[in-house]
Amino acid sequence: MRAIVVGAGIGGLTATLSLRRAGHDVTLVEQSRRLSEIGAGIQLAPNATRVLRRLNLLDAVAEHATRPSHVSFRTWSDGSEICRYVIGRDVEEEFGAPYLQLHRADLQRVLVAAVPPRSLHLATAVVGIDQDDKGARVTTASGERLDADLVVAADGIRSAARQWLFGADEAVFSHTAAYRALLPAAEVADLDLPEYAVWLGPNRHVVHYWLRHGELLNVVAVFVTDRTAQESWTARAEPGEQVRTFAGWDPRVLTLLDRAGQDFRYGIHTRTPLSRWNAGRVTLLGDSAHAMVPFQAQGAAQAVMDAAVLGDCLTGAAPDEVPDALDRYVRRRAPAATAVQASSARAGHDYHVPDGPEAEQRNARLVALAAENRFGPHSAAWPVDVLADG
Ligand SMILES: Cc1cc2nc3c(=O)[nH]c(=O)nc-3n(C[C@H](O)[C@H](O)[C@H](O)COP(=O)(O)OP(=O)(O)OC[C@H]3O[C@@H](n4cnc5c(N)ncnc54)[C@H](O)[C@@H]3O)c2cc1C
Repeated sequence: MRAIVVGAGIGGLTATLSLRRAGHDVTLVEQSRRLSEIGAGIQLAPNATRVLRRLNLLDAVAEHATRPSHVSFRTWSDGSEICRYVIGRDVEEEFGAPYLQLHRADLQRVLVAAVPPRSLHLATAVVGIDQDDKGARVTTASGERLDADLVVAADGIRSAARQWLFGADEAVFSHTAAYRALLPAAEVADLDLPEYAVWLGPNRHVVHYWLRHGELLNVVAVFVTDRTAQESWTARAEPGEQVRTFAGWDPRVLTLLDRAGQDFRYGIHTRTPLSRWNAGRVTLLGDSAHAMVPFQAQGAAQAVMDAAVLGDCLTGAAPDEVPDALDRYVRRRAPAATAVQASSARAGHDYHVPDGPEAEQRNARLVALAAENRFGPHSAAWPVDVLADG
């Protein structure tokens, strides 16, 4: 069976590998001339790393990754620790797969290296997808038409395929934006930072963790805003903007943001859940189907899980069985991904409550949770094993 995957992000790359593992002939088309994931970190929870293990990529990915021993939740104003949760070896023992933090470019390199070069077509923008009973066709910007039995649209949050399949519906601004920066270890050595921390404050939170075995500190500083910011990894903040936005915060956070210089500002958007991701021989996957706020670090993980289930549903499928196989894929994935979209939004509300009784109640909940579940508020998604639930 011939498949075309549109988009070589984490979703499209893992979908390609998963479909190849299922025995299909896959062409991966990407509009960019070069694959260059932006310089930022990504966290991969056990629900995603166990899929990477099945693709025989976990060791290669883990080689580049940091495994923090714990995460420390802190108070914005004075840095006092609210509570801490275990990660490291305990996660691997409990969930059978590790929690990894790594540079996106390192992850992308490992995934791309596993795709045969002849299958990957860069500088190939898809401008249309059509289909009939016998097959589907993808039209590229150069006018080429590629035939397939299956088309997977992993074309990201601004998915054009979603529009072609289901009509106009725009990405929704979440009223949050993020500054992000990477700082060399030498530039922050004097700050005595916890290895992995989530600082909580009214309408704001800051997350930082190490990449490349402690060479680089990845910092993401999120704030509530009505100003629609462009959802782009390359839009620059104004000089000094991040320090002004986080005025009054613990001096270590302010120093971090100051040393980050004029870092990047990213407007965080989501996609409204759809009851169907598929039509005939074409389906959405990853952010095109379920872009979410990143407050549980689950967007890419859910895309990786989509890819695994897609491969399973299409194992042994003949071309005329594709529509039914896609129905099964969406039935297995859509409710779960939609639930994670909702819980990620709730995590954001909880992080951003005002000081006073609401923050006290939130902190008391976090402390109580540490006593009953040592892995913390986001671990609910981690036991999900899409390889086993078929
Ligand atoms: C601040 C922030 C932090 C995050 N942290 C985490 C985290 O720690 N862990 C986690 O799991 N997730 C995280 N996420 C979410 C994660 O980044 C996304 O969910 C994930 O990258 C989506 O992957 P994707 O492959 O679906 O889409 P993308 O990565 O957007 O890939 C889409 C690809 O399709 C290509 N494309 C688009 N249109 C066309 C076309 N017409 N023709 C050809 N190619 C096309 C694009 O060029 C692109 O390469 C975070 C998100 C944000 C904003």
